[in-house]
Formats: sequence, structure tokens, C-alpha cells
Amino acid sequence: MKPFTVRLSFRGDLEFFLGPKFRNETVERRLSERTSIKDVIESCGIPHPEVNAILVNGHSVAFDHTLVSDAEVEVLPVVDRDTRRTEQHLQSAGINRFVADGHLGKLTRNLRLLGFDVAYETRADDRELLDVMARENRALLTRDRRLLMHSIVRHGYYPRSQNAVEQTVEVLRRFELVKMITPFTRCLRCNAQLEDAAKADVVEQLEPLTKKYYDKFRRCPACKQIYWSGSHFARMQKRIEDIRSKVRSQA
Ligand SMILES: [Zn+2]
Repeated sequence: MKPFTVRLSFRGDLEFFLGPKFRNETVERRLSERTSIKDVIESCGIPHPEVNAILVNGHSVAFDHTLVSDAEVEVLPVVDRDTRRTEQHLQSAGINRFVADGHLGKLTRNLRLLGFDVAYETRADDRELLDVMARENRALLTRDRRLLMHSIVRHGYYPRSQNAVEQTVEVLRRFELVKMITPFTRCLRCNAQLEDAAKADVVEQLEPLTKKYYDKFRRCPACKQIYWSGSHFARMQKRIEDIRSKVRSQA
């Protein structure tokens, strides 16, 4: 087969994944065998769940499209504020169930605080993460690019920031979740949905001052953790407001 050249342009925040010397540049790949567009894009460092549309010589294609000759490729991100495009979309919004890798504990707590279902085990290995993702139809959250490139990953996201509040804002925007926020409905420790609990049912587990000053309680049916609106509650409310205002200011 005659060697051929593919020239790729990455739009929007996909440039994040290119090395600094490729920012604002076209990336060239010289190929000598039939290659899927997914493999060519990922060879440039961009995991496929980050890609929402691909144009090959101006035509919209899916990840299994095979390249066999010279081509100009334009790769579009999921969050693309600058343009309203009508190509085939390769990603979906509105997914609200996640599995997070072991390095994203703070992001996990923030998302649970907002009511989202996030599976998380600090010691889960790659295989376990992919199993939970596939079996429970969850989107994978990870800063491991290799893992996100795995071909069985349908939906996923690579948080750009190292800061948990910023990461939370990113996930809310990527999956368009702002309207689905239901704070204080999920256990931060184990992810189960909280239930209202009568004071009489939890009173034996309360500290004397809590017993004296609070009357409304919620309880986790799985790990039995009790929640009430004490001092930690104000702190968490502030964090929720902080996240909400950041999402609004970037929209
Ligand atoms: Zn729990």
C-alpha cells in the first residue's frame, strides 16, 4: 500500500491534550496501512470520549471510519461554545451516572453532594473500573488517558483541572447536569440515596448537643451514617453555591 499523509486539526479545548509545541498547529501523521480514525486521533494523545465530531475531507464520520489515502481531518470537542454545528454527534449529554478512578475522591464527594450517583473504590484497578462502567452503564471519570482510550469506553471524561471544585464544574458542563442537581440526597461515604429518619429512630446515635439542637435527620440505609444540618452543613452549602456560580459564570 502506498504511504499517505493525514493532517489533523483539533478544535476547542482538545488542544489541552496536545503537547505545547503542537498548540494551534496541524498535526501530521504518515501512514502506510489502513488505519481507523479512532487510532489516528488517539495516537495524537486525545482519548475518543473527548471527541464529539470528526470531519474527514469535510464529511462527518464515526470512530470506525478507515483511512486509506491522504486526508484533512477536523476533530471537534464536546463542549464547543463557538460554533453551532450539525455533524453527527459521537457523544451524548445528560448522562448522570459515573464511575470515578481512585484518584478522584474529592470530585466524587462533590458530585455525590449534588445528588449524583458515583461509583468509587479507592483500590479499584483498571479492569474493575471498566467492568463497573460497562455493567452499570456509567460514564468513566479518570485522568488516566490510556484507560479512557480503551475501546469499550462509550462515555467518559478527563478532568482538566487538578482542583476538585473546578473538576466538578467541568463535569457539570460536559454532561449538562446543572438542572439535575439535587443537593443532600445521597450518602457522601457510600453513594446510597438518603432516607428521612425520625429523631426517635436515630437518637441513640447522636451526641448530646446534636440531640438537643436538631430535629430533622436523614440516614443512609446502607452504611447507617446520619446527616443533619449542623456546622458542616453550612460549609457544604457554601461549596454547592460556589460550584453553581462557577458553572453559571462560564456558561
Ligand atoms: Zn452510606
